[in-house]
Amino acid sequence: MHFNIHTIFAAAAIGIAAPTIMAQDIDSRYASWPVCEGHDNEVKVDPTGTHFTLWSPEADAVRVMIYDTDRNGVASDTLDMKRGDKGTWYVSVPEKLYGKFYTFAVTTGGKTLAETPGIWAKAVGTNGHRAAIINLNTTNPEGWDKDRGPETKHITDAVIYEMHHRDFSIDPSSGIVHKGKFLALTEPGTKSPEGLATGIDHLKELGVTHVHILPSYDYNSVDEANLPSNQYNWGYDPYNYNAPEGSYSTDPAKPETRIREMKEMVKALHDAGIGVVMDVVYNHTADNDGSNFSLTAPGYFYRHRADGSYSDASGCGNETASDRKMMRDFIVNSVKYWAKEYHIDGFRFDLMAIHDIETMNEVAAELKKINPSIFVYGEGWTAGDSPLPAAQRALKENVDKMEGVAVFSDDIRDAVKGHYSRSDDQGFATGKPGNEETVKIGIVASTAHPQVDYAKGNNSKFAYAGAPTEIINYVSCHDDLTLTDKLAASMPGSTEADRQRAARLAQTIVFTSQGTPFMFAGEEVFRDKKGVHNSYKSPDSINAIDWSLKAKNKGQYDYYRNLIRLRREHPAFRMTSADEVAKNIVFDKVKAPNVVSYSIKNNANGDEWKEIKLVFNGSTSPFVAKIPRGEWTIIARDGELNPDGLGTSKGGTVVVTPTSALILARTK
Ligand code: CA
Repeated sequence: MHFNIHTIFAAAAIGIAAPTIMAQDIDSRYASWPVCEGHDNEVKVDPTGTHFTLWSPEADAVRVMIYDTDRNGVASDTLDMKRGDKGTWYVSVPEKLYGKFYTFAVTTGGKTLAETPGIWAKAVGTNGHRAAIINLNTTNPEGWDKDRGPETKHITDAVIYEMHHRDFSIDPSSGIVHKGKFLALTEPGTKSPEGLATGIDHLKELGVTHVHILPSYDYNSVDEANLPSNQYNWGYDPYNYNAPEGSYSTDPAKPETRIREMKEMVKALHDAGIGVVMDVVYNHTADNDGSNFSLTAPGYFYRHRADGSYSDASGCGNETASDRKMMRDFIVNSVKYWAKEYHIDGFRFDLMAIHDIETMNEVAAELKKINPSIFVYGEGWTAGDSPLPAAQRALKENVDKMEGVAVFSDDIRDAVKGHYSRSDDQGFATGKPGNEETVKIGIVASTAHPQVDYAKGNNSKFAYAGAPTEIINYVSCHDDLTLTDKLAASMPGSTEADRQRAARLAQTIVFTSQGTPFMFAGEEVFRDKKGVHNSYKSPDSINAIDWSLKAKNKGQYDYYRNLIRLRREHPAFRMTSADEVAKNIVFDKVKAPNVVSYSIKNNANGDEWKEIKLVFNGSTSPFVAKIPRGEWTIIARDGELNPDGLGTSKGGTVVVTPTSALILARTK
């Protein structure tokens, strides 16, 4: 999301301060509310009629308002709900109300709150203000029952491509018909003006295994009633967590359309062998008192400060309370719903450290029961302090207390390209010394290694990961400057060719490191965002990928494609345990600054290559490497890379040119 503030250590210092009596009072009050776990349906249609249920323990009265249309007009009927058990309210009618819309109106403390579609609306109309009663079975594309995502034994086998629907397809150069829509990813045969593949064909050609889509549940900011105004937003402003965003559909007014089209997108990607990861933002809501949580059961779903105000670890005005039973239950059941109904293959948790460790463990465990290939990762930090004690937070530093959850490595990110927010700060790949040990931390995926000195780590001072499967490696994402812009800002006087070399070196470090590689869409064609750091609501002119860049930067694209192939063909880059990494990775002693040299030995993880030698030269001087004598195949040299080999070497003295990676491999 657009807040990327590292307050982990500050938060650890402030956050553990003893909560006052009042904050505890608030917590114990909510803890005494009756709960109704597993409640994930507020409307159900069966042969006996239509049945509404709402969990709202402190309500004095609840009404269901029935509408004929998704917006405007008055209610065609109102139904008074009766108090049920476990804090719920219920009412039934004998008719099947398919095609109708509804809201709930909760009266509490003598006041009737604004209408809400509830927290479990699975189908909604324009802007999501009214929930819809539909038969979900009618939204399945043909062949949906046989639809399966790719099998992913370990998360480290994945190559993740982070994409925004609008960035990816809105530019005329995409050649895509359904620009900015879910359906953009269902169109085969689309081409750039220069005749190169775009869209889903491009993804297949590039070789990524998973597309990570930025928030695609119904969010608040884009006015679905006014789509021609071409508003843009990343979507980190959740409104209805269990229905797709309307602006990505061809008709936001028809509740079935957005559901069917999102499923068609998933199916098209699955048919192409590509999995779908959803970015989920359960950590906060777009609105405070006006959110569906607040209008359903005021107060309960959020954390508060001692004075009763909303606490704000999200930096967006509030934070949810995953440590409360019904909020935890909501998160767990919501991801289960997306996994089952939409066949989603993975979940990326925004500001995951706002959630507690127990919740994340339950999320991962429940998803694995549905499909063992599903994986979970998230940002192991918050954007502000939280009343949740640091020891309970799903922080990067606590990742080893979680099972089946990975975290982004800001260690490798900042070490390789320079500080994420200080534009002109350089990193290892752009010639700044002092990052060598942190690059090594990245290479071993923050696991314990006898040759890595964590005391010299820039961001983390201890081996926080218990296995490489707990780490996501990256040097760019939707947040902050794109790699292209970061290099332009931090390499004064450089040519574009210089910057492309630096990008190649940076991504070579990421894609050969242990852990899971992650890249930002368009990186492979050297896309930029005109230097805009936080483009969450910038226009298409900033955010759209210009697909003509694919022809212009063909060399860059070919390098990325080969890099992805190298990783996918060689399990040595995808070890799954810390012991294997410690045993098979051997670093060379190097005195020169800005050089890291190491070997992956012993046919690691079943690799056909007995030894892989990698030398990264981030300095502006050539580095003379001493390579043991042997029958080496040159995989990468002087800014070129080919998994099938660029030539052979007998070892000995090999010059590694400035800002480049040397990779050699031998089978005996
Ligand atoms: Ca919306």
